[in-house]
Amino acid sequence: MGNGANERRPAVVLLSGGLDSATVLAEAAAAGFAPHALTVAYGQRNDVERAAARQVAAAVGVVRHVEMAIDLRAFGGSALTADVDVPKDREAPDAPGEVPITYVPARNTVFLSLALAWAETLGAFDVFIGVNCVDYSGYPDCRPEFLRAFEGLANLATRAGVEGAGRFTVHAPLLKLTKDAIIRRGLELGVDYGLTHTCYDPTPEGLSCGRCDACRLRLAAFERLGMKDPVAYAG
Ligand SMILES: [Zn+2]
Repeated sequence: MGNGANERRPAVVLLSGGLDSATVLAEAAAAGFAPHALTVAYGQRNDVERAAARQVAAAVGVVRHVEMAIDLRAFGGSALTADVDVPKDREAPDAPGEVPITYVPARNTVFLSLALAWAETLGAFDVFIGVNCVDYSGYPDCRPEFLRAFEGLANLATRAGVEGAGRFTVHAPLLKLTKDAIIRRGLELGVDYGLTHTCYDPTPEGLSCGRCDACRLRLAAFERLGMKDPVAYAG
């Protein structure tokens, strides 16, 4: 309390519309930042996520929500951006050290670069991203080493960093939380998970499949918490 809206420092929050990024947006707002949400439409198979991002941004109350289209289908290389089936009904995720087929080449580097460009424009030094190294340990660009390296890059690559106006920080408040802990924290912060979208492969009507790795992880977490996931599932 005590900080008026115009005293809050701006921060850029990467907002996919998923459960994690919705929680991170609420964290940024709760930490006293004036959140600017960035949603990158990268050519993923569905637009359901983007619609969810709009709803989440409106519900939390952002200063501005920018949606930017960067079509990574031009490169392909992932089950999310190429004509490759999304794995379903897998009991166990990939073996340790194995990078899942849903990995999108260099996605978080692309996203953080865009967030950095907007942050520098706004005079912001804080960028929030919903990466997590507990449940998705196979993604190399979700590791703490990567985030630290990107902070170093941000300070070398920008006028704001070179002029010493501040130091860029990449905030990843979910980095070491399990999915259950993320949901618990989000509920404390008032996140409406019914607005979020997680599924890699929703039906044309926008229902979650309930069978892809992302759905299974999410459903299992709600189940462990003794709660019903508020989003609609097919079948
Ligand atoms: Zn799914």
